Amino acid sequence: MNKFSNLNYRRDFQHQETVYKISENRYIEETEIINFILNSNTSDLLKFSQYLRNRENNLKIITYSRKIFINLVNLCKDTCSYCTYKKEPSAIESIMLNPSQVLSMVEAGKKLRCTEALIVTGERPELKYIEAKNWLNKLGYKTLVELISNLSEMILKKTGLLPHTNAGSLTKKEMSLLKSTNVSLGMMLENSSEKLLEPGNAHEKAPSKNPKVRIKSLISAGELKIPITTGLLIGIGERLIDVVKSLLLIKELNERYGHIQEVIIQNFAPKVGTRMENANPPSEDYFLKCIAIARILLKNINIQVPPNLTPIVYSRYIDAGINDWGGISPLTPDYVNPEYPWPAIDDVQTVTKSKGFTLRARLPIYPEFITNPSKYTYFVTENVKDYIEALIDNTGLVKEEYLQ
Ligand code: SF4
Repeated sequence: MNKFSNLNYRRDFQHQETVYKISENRYIEETEIINFILNSNTSDLLKFSQYLRNRENNLKIITYSRKIFINLVNLCKDTCSYCTYKKEPSAIESIMLNPSQVLSMVEAGKKLRCTEALIVTGERPELKYIEAKNWLNKLGYKTLVELISNLSEMILKKTGLLPHTNAGSLTKKEMSLLKSTNVSLGMMLENSSEKLLEPGNAHEKAPSKNPKVRIKSLISAGELKIPITTGLLIGIGERLIDVVKSLLLIKELNERYGHIQEVIIQNFAPKVGTRMENANPPSEDYFLKCIAIARILLKNINIQVPPNLTPIVYSRYIDAGINDWGGISPLTPDYVNPEYPWPAIDDVQTVTKSKGFTLRARLPIYPEFITNPSKYTYFVTENVKDYIEALIDNTGLVKEEYLQ
């Protein structure tokens, strides 16, 4: 029994019938959900999201993934108005790694008890930059995905760390190639509003951020039964209703395919040198509200907020209903947000404990895909099962002995 189990819909919530229907998975019209969210205050939404999170989380665990961040190539064919990750080939910070560099990073990560090898790239750099094309050709590949596939195989076989790739919007064929070596994939939806593509807006120069393209990739992952992490970027010019509609879309896709393992709610942080450097970041109230809405709409899908990007005390995210801190590396920086270093894992543990939760390390594939026999059969390929089983205890989380 937790302290929220006595929560009384009729006594504690203004929109009691709607809260009851959401909580008990009763049929509910989309307009009723939207109306409820747009007319509720943040503290009520937080109270409801905490209740839903705690109801599913009897053991009061908040997870993180201990990872090594492989910044494989940071060239990109697109230009998002907030991004400092993308570099031009002439920049001193441009990166195109070779397999031996990747291997030595992953081996260093293994010594620090990491379990995830996160492979990150810009969006199809070989289509725009001859330097990227030449780099691939020199390594013996025509496409970036072929390289990632072989690197993932190498990582698995030589270190046992589990690859998880985020290379932007991939085709079904590309995802299919990665399924045998990647335990899951990642791709942010960002937002389902096409308004963000309009002139002057955040995704004007990023055709791969067209929601149609991203939704197609999420559908492909579902059809291929690949566990996938997606998420929203909050504060890039969207309205609250766009956030709600984006989350409802993710919910619908998950109901169809059961493949969304985690949704990241990430706050936009203005960065010097970008077109949005003078844009306001989301307010604390708005951001916390978005996190709470994600929990309320997505219920038992894992909700992650990264602890390093926050302008506020990150323990507040626990109050808003999260159950995961995402990937944290004891070695490599957050190459997408190098301005914001990760807190030390000990610090995250202390903060988590101060809110009455226990921090546990998870794999880049969530326990429910491992401990549920049907999900394990269909969503996990034979090729990776031995590697997964070597790292977990009977809860599907990383076994404590591995972390000693
Ligand atoms: S956010 Fe991703 S797609 Fe957009 S410019 Fe940066 S690397 Fe490219």
